[in-house]
Amino acid sequence: MEEKERMAKILDILEKRFPHARLLLEFSNPFELLVATILAAQAPDERVNQITKTLFQRFPTPQALSHASLSEIEEIIHSLPYYRQKARSLKETSSILVEQFAGEVPPELSELTSLPGVGRKTANIVLANAFHIPAIAVDTHVARVSQRLGFASSSSPSEIEKDLSSLIPQECWIRATHLLGFLGRTTCLAKKPRCPECPVQEWCPSSISS
Ligand code: SF4
Repeated sequence: MEEKERMAKILDILEKRFPHARLLLEFSNPFELLVATILAAQAPDERVNQITKTLFQRFPTPQALSHASLSEIEEIIHSLPYYRQKARSLKETSSILVEQFAGEVPPELSELTSLPGVGRKTANIVLANAFHIPAIAVDTHVARVSQRLGFASSSSPSEIEKDLSSLIPQECWIRATHLLGFLGRTTCLAKKPRCPECPVQEWCPSSISS
């Protein structure tokens, strides 16, 4: 079976198993998603969702966040890893959005990745989920699952993104990212994959039977 065919089969099975797979970060506009995604680096989405409720109430726009003091932002986000660095990124990114992008989040990969604290994964999450632009965001779950399923030729996220984009039709990139991510979060766990209960065990070269 060709790799594209094997990938299609796996995505089909995952769609049936995880019909509600989606991004777990809560947001109501592109700015909120950008902020939530910057905060989510190395942090659980559930904790980020609790924090952004307060953050967005106090500072709902790039203008408001750019005028916040670093200590005000740090006080709200202090339970997250790297909170000092993230507070700086949020403030600087907000200022740049106000000064260079008329207070809007740009729907362009190169412009997004020029913002402080915004790497390719964050930019792709924003493009896909806020603007519905086809993009594959390779987070830790997508990377791990892609490697175990034998679809990744290296451990580099940008190489994995290239590998996946060559195997998945562009119109399915966003959905595939959610499905592979859900498999990683629920079943193909980092420390101990739950292969016997995995819906794609039959199609996985790394399957462990017990
Ligand atoms: S069979 Fe095991 S290693 Fe393969 S994707 Fe499923 S949980 Fe991961």
